[in-house]
Amino acid sequence: MLLISRRNLLAISAGAIHVAAAASQETREPRANRKLKVIVTGGHPGDPEYGCGGTIARYADLGHEVVLLYLNRGEKGCPETTPNAGSDVRVPEARKACEILKARPAFAGQCDGHAIVDGAHYDEFRGLLEAEKPDVLFTHWPVDGHADHRAISMLAYDAWLRMGKRFAFYYYEVSDGEDTLMFLPTDYVDISATESRKRAACYAHASQAPDKFYSLQSQVTRFRGIESGYPQAEAYIRHAQSPGNWLPEAIAGSGKQAG
Ligand SMILES: [Zn+2]
Repeated sequence: MLLISRRNLLAISAGAIHVAAAASQETREPRANRKLKVIVTGGHPGDPEYGCGGTIARYADLGHEVVLLYLNRGEKGCPETTPNAGSDVRVPEARKACEILKARPAFAGQCDGHAIVDGAHYDEFRGLLEAEKPDVLFTHWPVDGHADHRAISMLAYDAWLRMGKRFAFYYYEVSDGEDTLMFLPTDYVDISATESRKRAACYAHASQAPDKFYSLQSQVTRFRGIESGYPQAEAYIRHAQSPGNWLPEAIAGSGKQAG
């Protein structure tokens, strides 16, 4: 039988507190000297690029690993009739966009316009994230006109909660007015130096009317620049319980926050 004295118990408790504090410190401090795994989820090929392309390029420039995790392959007619129709166009476009941003594409296997949010899909999506072990996760802001965007926002948020809120969590905006609505940023990233690469990545999605949609997104990044004092900026809502702020601005030590 193991007898634990009061003194030993106090020592064990103190040790546990010390370990807990160290773990907390470890998860809350931006680790600029460690390679981060950044996952940017999107309802369709193109969404992460339009919403976060300048930020993605900045992470890549800092030597971090970025994965663009698309909910579907942009195929039409899924699932019963033509399971992969259109993905022979959209998938190569996504691969080209990722090449430009120095990111890796990944696909969650759902179907364009037929997003499913239920118990099985929550588990499946969380499994994908657990395999990737992210340090930073981005997803769509959930007040959005497109059901696929709302779906991946719920899937990503559920995974973050059930994985213990261990990594930084941000919402992004895309195609404001038509898709994102009621978005009030907490943080901004200066994309002046990377906007040309973001533009090239968005234009890699040549089948998706980039003249129209990039023009709209440029209005947003210019306005976010006016708000934050940069020429052009991407804006984010950081979850209030997100451990630390690991945006490129924060890692570089010159982060801008709203208010
Ligand atoms: Zn979309």
